[in-house]
Amino acid sequence: MTDAGPITAVRKVEVTEVGPRDGIQAEAAFVPTQRKIEFINRLIEAGVPRIEATSFVSPRAVPQLADAGEVMKGVKRSKNTVLAALVPNARGAIRAAEAEVDQIVVFMSASESHNLKNVNCTVDQSLKAFEEVAKIAHDAGIPVHGAIATSFGCPFEGSVPVENVARIARAYQDMGFVGMSFGDTTGMATPPLVRDRVRAVREAAPKLSQVLHFHNTRGIGLANVVAGLHEGVDRYEAAFGGTGGCPFVPKATGNICTEDLLYLLHEMGIETGIDIRKLIGIARDVEPVLGHPLPGQVMKAGLRLDLHPMDSVRTAVG
Ligand code: ZN
Repeated sequence: MTDAGPITAVRKVEVTEVGPRDGIQAEAAFVPTQRKIEFINRLIEAGVPRIEATSFVSPRAVPQLADAGEVMKGVKRSKNTVLAALVPNARGAIRAAEAEVDQIVVFMSASESHNLKNVNCTVDQSLKAFEEVAKIAHDAGIPVHGAIATSFGCPFEGSVPVENVARIARAYQDMGFVGMSFGDTTGMATPPLVRDRVRAVREAAPKLSQVLHFHNTRGIGLANVVAGLHEGVDRYEAAFGGTGGCPFVPKATGNICTEDLLYLLHEMGIETGIDIRKLIGIARDVEPVLGHPLPGQVMKAGLRLDLHPMDSVRTAVG
């Protein structure tokens, strides 16, 4: 917290860690199940209130997450952390319910071509299929959250009309979902688009809690978070170390980075309940497991007021 004082009305933010799912799903090297469990346990221990822990998709489509059931079985549950899992269809919902996830997340795209490419359905076919998922979840007493990918633009179609996003959100609300996230799958969000989409969905589906999910593809992920804060949005998704990228999107880069997001929020005087030092430690430990450098910046630089011994840095003029 700085002495400069708050610049938006939001005082507390719920950060969702999507690293264990979105962050690693496209990684070539299989992350051993025990390591996944260890990272999720450490996230819970660090105070993360919501984690996208895994995905009950076909193991053939996403081999990295073929161990979804084992991961859910292995983690130490806490009443302070919601463990959410992605589910593509009724079969996935049944597996997720058996694994006793705290929340089911369904996903579709706001643009027809991305939805066809990603899940092989039209927008209306996806919405229809979610009714069955919602019924399974409802019978198991599990709340459903709906993600809307390409909310801010589509790599195949370009601009996505805000009405498409609002219509899907409205359908989510009608099916009794608890919340929705605006997925910025390809990093096409900008602050004005954030403002317009948040306002349109608030009007079309006022009962849904809104979550913003940005990718840092073009370097303005955190600027979009600030735009969201100015609109009063208090839920954001991010991935440790800035991991991630959609396997079905050309040149997609990672999610915004959780430690960098926490650093921004905490410096703005906004509470998250998460221990940022523990998150930095997790990101540093994830990097060697994935075997390549991660884009996160605070994991490299440390916190702003971390002191360095004077003889540890070389000085130069300029
Ligand atoms: Zn993502």
